[in-house]
Amino acid sequence: MNDLRDAAEWITAADRVLITAGAGLSAAAGFDYTDHERFAELFPALHRAGLRARYEMIGRDLPAEYLWGFWAVHTKDIRFNPGPSPLYEQLRGIVGDRDYFVMTSNVDQLFSRNGFDADRMYTPQGDYGLYQCLTPCTREVWPSEPIIRQSLDNYDPATGKVSPEAIPSCPNCGGRVFLNVYAGAWYINDHFRPGLDRLNDWLAETRESGETLAVVEIGAGFNTPGVIRWPGEQVTRALPNARLIRVNRDHPDVPDDLADRAWAIAADARTVIEQLTHPSGASS
Ligand SMILES: [Zn+2]
Repeated sequence: MNDLRDAAEWITAADRVLITAGAGLSAAAGFDYTDHERFAELFPALHRAGLRARYEMIGRDLPAEYLWGFWAVHTKDIRFNPGPSPLYEQLRGIVGDRDYFVMTSNVDQLFSRNGFDADRMYTPQGDYGLYQCLTPCTREVWPSEPIIRQSLDNYDPATGKVSPEAIPSCPNCGGRVFLNVYAGAWYINDHFRPGLDRLNDWLAETRESGETLAVVEIGAGFNTPGVIRWPGEQVTRALPNARLIRVNRDHPDVPDDLADRAWAIAADARTVIEQLTHPSGASS
């Protein structure tokens, strides 16, 4: 684990931290889209129908009453559960007083729900906490909590269905709606642009100040590398005072041109965050 010790020293020494995170981080925090056991527990009807994991539901077209049964239970679990996430809290502790920014493909807001400032985040793929028209008839988006609650109040776990009158619809045109996350050309992202503008300003400041930057990439693989993984590499390339710390169990490799200022840590996010939190090796 020499690389991890070097990486920890770099994070400690860095003036600024850019966290770039993908699905691997939330999976390590207990929200694993590939977890068969949890799927069977939460979605007994879908499990009986032969489905085994949440990722199989992404982009799947089903009759609306089944679709909203799944999305309501899933969103409640991953976006509206009231509990803190110890793993995200530990990550916040590692960042400490350093000037930071977060860029994540995760749409669960686990960063802002565990001590990270919502104004220091860019979430290009959206937020389960909002919903939108699928037409879309307007660029407006709305908080999803009421439609999730309405669906759950009218949901039967035995059948996996939401009763037809409780299926959400557009407040503006009455048409079909979906959560405000990137899953097609209908996706409305206007309201996430200010996050990108703030990230760009923050990076410009980082360059002008000459301060050192640790780009800490966690669990961002090759599902959508253009969203998190490659931009993080580009930032590292563009800023001479930046170093890249890549935490990835399955795809830790770093590009050759960054080899002398990148650490590849082939371990899952939980292991690494716990070791960075307790560098002496103590387990509690
Ligand atoms: Zn509409």
